[in-house]
Amino acid sequence: MNYYINTYGCQMNIHESEKIAGMLEDMGYIPCAEEKDADIIVFNTCCIRETAEQKIYGHMGTTKKLKQNNKDLIIAMCGCMTQQEGIQSTIKSKYPYIDIVLGTGNISMLPQAVNRVRANRKDKVFDENYLKGTEDSMPLARTSAPNAWVNIIYGCNNFCSYCIVPHVRGREHSRKMSDVVSEVKSLIAQGYKEITLLGQNVNSYGHDLNDGTTFAGLLNEIGAIPGKFRIRFMSSHPKDLTDDVIAAIANNKNICNNIHLPVQSGSDDVLRRMNRRYTRQRYLEQIKKIRSMLPDVGITTDIMVGFPGETEQDFQDTLDLVRQAEYSSAFCFIYSRRKGTPAYSMEGQVPYPEKQRRIQLLLKTQNEVTKRLSAEMVGKVYEVLAEDANPKYPDTYCGRTENGRLVNFRCDFNPVGQFVDVLIEQARSATLWGRAVKED
Ligand code: SF4
Repeated sequence: MNYYINTYGCQMNIHESEKIAGMLEDMGYIPCAEEKDADIIVFNTCCIRETAEQKIYGHMGTTKKLKQNNKDLIIAMCGCMTQQEGIQSTIKSKYPYIDIVLGTGNISMLPQAVNRVRANRKDKVFDENYLKGTEDSMPLARTSAPNAWVNIIYGCNNFCSYCIVPHVRGREHSRKMSDVVSEVKSLIAQGYKEITLLGQNVNSYGHDLNDGTTFAGLLNEIGAIPGKFRIRFMSSHPKDLTDDVIAAIANNKNICNNIHLPVQSGSDDVLRRMNRRYTRQRYLEQIKKIRSMLPDVGITTDIMVGFPGETEQDFQDTLDLVRQAEYSSAFCFIYSRRKGTPAYSMEGQVPYPEKQRRIQLLLKTQNEVTKRLSAEMVGKVYEVLAEDANPKYPDTYCGRTENGRLVNFRCDFNPVGQFVDVLIEQARSATLWGRAVKED
């Protein structure tokens, strides 16, 4: 029996697909390369952006034919899109061939739901008790060695006015520190070399445990594990990033000099209406502090254009902040209107052609910064964790520096899974090219 998973959205979802794969493999299913060969197809959805949602509906339509040709095919839908109000009734009326609908917090019910549908092909499982509580003991089929992801906190308490996440994923819920540390230790023992700690806002990790646990404390605990490995984390809400966290990065050689600090906008007025609870000045002071405590740090960000009411001046303030903050890269996107959020009904929705103009200008501005930072790296040697072979070029591999830069490099042995010193010879905007000079 074969399974196929369609994953949409962010890193959290990619990791959740590993949990789905783990449960299915425990039931005896094996992965297949094409949907047409699957006995069960899972859509692991994401509702953060409208474009992802449209893509999912389009794709679900194509599986209808597969179902017509194979009546035993099971189609399941899970992920946060299913948790939006009204989605279940839309699925029932427009996509009646979907057998199972679960969310994020009740995904551990998947094996039970599959068995029920297998026992009676007329049965459907639509469970709306989405926030039952995520189980950490679920089996995992990790697919990305030498990298691995570990959830440390679920949900979000922040209610940024454009964001659907707190509405669908519920309030923050931290895992016990001892559980996180033992999962990280076990991954290191299994040979994983880079572990990314995941949460919508990792900086608030521990506050709900009420026992003094903090994110900085977790980093120090993990940083003290012996061995050669790297720890990254994402995402960090700027309002909650403390000096202790920056110090933990500085004091632990295994914690990467790399911070993803989503700014979203460079305008105080827009930040206030986004309910981000920091100002442009405070954010820039934080960047200054990070750079003073962490030389060579790579800082990345998320930036949105076209938030309701964003004026030309607001947008220019964002471009100015991008130049000042000197991000090594930025995930730039157009504001997407999400039903159920306060921003949905805000006045001053920016017309689409104007949003397009702004995103192009933002990308150009960020590219100029990235290009300049890349050029400064040429001629220097960086330690790179080799993650994969580059399929386009023989004897060429790709990996990341500690500060998060992507490097393609030539190497006369297969270094995948190893740390390699790489001399950067050429910078092509976001990507760096070089050659291995010495094995670690
Ligand atoms: S911090 Fe804001 S943007 Fe991030 S998940 Fe929470 S509400 Fe959404």
